[in-house]
Amino acid sequence: MVGEKPKVTSKIANALGDYSTKENRGVKNYIIETDERRIIIAPAVGHIFNLDQVSEGWDYPVFDVEWKPTFETDDSADYMKKYYNNLKDQLKKADTYINACDFDLEGSVIGANVIKQITDAPDEKIERMKFSTLTQGDLQDAFDDLEDFDRGMTSAGITRHILDYYYGVNVSRALMQAVRENDRYKTLSTGRVQGPALKVLADKERSIMEFEPDPYWEIFLHHSEFDAKFLEPDADREKEDRVWEEEKAEEIFTTVKGEKKAQVSNIKINNYSHNPPIPFNLTGLQKEASSQFNIAPKKTQSIAQSLYEDGLISYPRTESQKLPPSLGYKSLLNKLKGQDKYEDLAEKVLKKDKSDDLFPRQGKKEDDAHPAIYPTGSFPSGLSKMEGKVYDLIVKRFFAVFGDAAKRQSLTMTLDVLGHKFSAKSKVTKERNWFNLYDPYVNVEEAELPGVEEGETLDVEGFDLEEKETKPPRRYSQSRIVSELEKKNLGTKATRAATIDRLYDRNYIDSSPIEVTDLGLAIVNTLEDHAPDLLSEKLTREFEEQMDAIQNDEETSEDVVQKAREGLEETLTNFKEKEKEIGAELVETIDQERKRRRQLGDCLECDDGTLRMIKSDGSRFVGCSNYPDCENSFPLPNNGDINSMEEVCEECGNPKIYVSRSSGNDYSMCIYPDCPTKDDW
Ligand SMILES: [Zn+2]
Ligand SMILES: [Zn+2]
Repeated sequence: MVGEKPKVTSKIANALGDYSTKENRGVKNYIIETDERRIIIAPAVGHIFNLDQVSEGWDYPVFDVEWKPTFETDDSADYMKKYYNNLKDQLKKADTYINACDFDLEGSVIGANVIKQITDAPDEKIERMKFSTLTQGDLQDAFDDLEDFDRGMTSAGITRHILDYYYGVNVSRALMQAVRENDRYKTLSTGRVQGPALKVLADKERSIMEFEPDPYWEIFLHHSEFDAKFLEPDADREKEDRVWEEEKAEEIFTTVKGEKKAQVSNIKINNYSHNPPIPFNLTGLQKEASSQFNIAPKKTQSIAQSLYEDGLISYPRTESQKLPPSLGYKSLLNKLKGQDKYEDLAEKVLKKDKSDDLFPRQGKKEDDAHPAIYPTGSFPSGLSKMEGKVYDLIVKRFFAVFGDAAKRQSLTMTLDVLGHKFSAKSKVTKERNWFNLYDPYVNVEEAELPGVEEGETLDVEGFDLEEKETKPPRRYSQSRIVSELEKKNLGTKATRAATIDRLYDRNYIDSSPIEVTDLGLAIVNTLEDHAPDLLSEKLTREFEEQMDAIQNDEETSEDVVQKAREGLEETLTNFKEKEKEIGAELVETIDQERKRRRQLGDCLECDDGTLRMIKSDGSRFVGCSNYPDCENSFPLPNNGDINSMEEVCEECGNPKIYVSRSSGNDYSMCIYPDCPTKDDW
């Protein structure tokens, strides 16, 4: 039996009963003897095998690939060697095999590769263990009820790896080769999902660049307890709280500004329900952790993964927003009740059982492999602060989905001043219901208006006229782009956050919310002009659909791979013909970007000099472009990555820099050593 990782493997052994252990080549194996069979459980460490090209060299396109032990092709994977050798030793002793890796495409590929690459076993000799949590009960059930070899899932997973290799390696080589043709060297990459994802971000960046703000005006009425806003009756829209002509705004303001009274002309009350939230899938969790704790999606994913490996929550890489009754809601709630912290909340939910009402709200999305994320009820210990937060969020969300809708009320008050209408709105909660189960994560507006009646006259404190501007489209935050990719069906739940991280690593994007760099825009422009297929959302989505079809035995891996290969061959042949020209475009941007990063600002010692960062003999400093005529220079810190802040010091007028350090202790400073801003350094 093959487990995905050592830690998970020991959990499986523990769950299945009495075992003995045997160390081999420094790796711990577990042996379980039953009446019928003797089982050896041996761990993998993720992908023990990786795709690599059969031929040699750096040319493209390359389509001849094979699985090789990862430690042979990746220097950083040397630690995998002993696991590989151990698996080889153990698998040789076996007659049949069980893939007990995580139940998804990746787990299927990891386990199947280990078994098939090492033993060449036919499908009939392989069984699959299917579980969603690492709890004793689930693992025992999965073991008692082993499934046949998951041919469809394995084949779909392998196809994904091949397509990712084809796109990733070939296109990255094409881009780098194009740059090299122009005597530059730069690591550039793109991938099957990376390209379309970057394009989504670049489109947003361009719409922001093209955006021209429109001015508009708003008029406010101030009451001692609330503010109301001018509302213009509009023929096209029902109402409009923005005035688009300055003259008109001034005219209204001049009319009302001296008034001391306003009459309540209308009160509209609306009672409505605020439904409980739906269960978390990975994207939902990433989004909520980002808005509640400001944790980046990739970090949330790795925290969730470790909570899963500790047996505290179900498998997090799920698309599902449903919690089926087969999970046993009541028993999960009873287990959570055993934790002091959740005793009262669990009790509240369990009380509903008496009225036969214990059913969670469900979302629309499904996932064949796993339900939505839920807590197993196992008692957590030794969690880090962040893990504790994410765990609490998952538990509270699990409670909240069983709650009753909250009762809310909105009140809209219309005030009349000399025939002009002003409006104020309030929203209050009348019955909290599920809010009580989800505190402190409930995020709703609560604003009360004084109790007044229609026809009543109120005292006004004054009026304000404010000029405003329409705002450009909002940038994507990391969690919002991950949801957007999910909505567009680009990539998989397991890889979306990592795709965005890769774009940061390549300097195609920076900051948060996300800005696309000139380099990122240049890559998109270049590919749009010369290889638009590589950015195509549609094509990427089609492949996702074909992968689903492979999983359901409706398509073969060979056909899909062949089709991808034909398309790519054509695209890359065209690209290669224009390699030099494409490279020249890219090099221009790369050079500008490098220059921009080096340049800090104007020299104060001479007329037209520019201060730049200079590296020589392993040291770095700031010098003037007019050297040797101008000898103005400044030292730079030895450690950290230095970037221009594109601003000057308020005290001395020299440029400021931003120093990022691997320790995370980033700082900004003026480059002038004797600057007054550094008096207390
Ligand atoms: Zn100078
Ligand atoms: Zn200064």
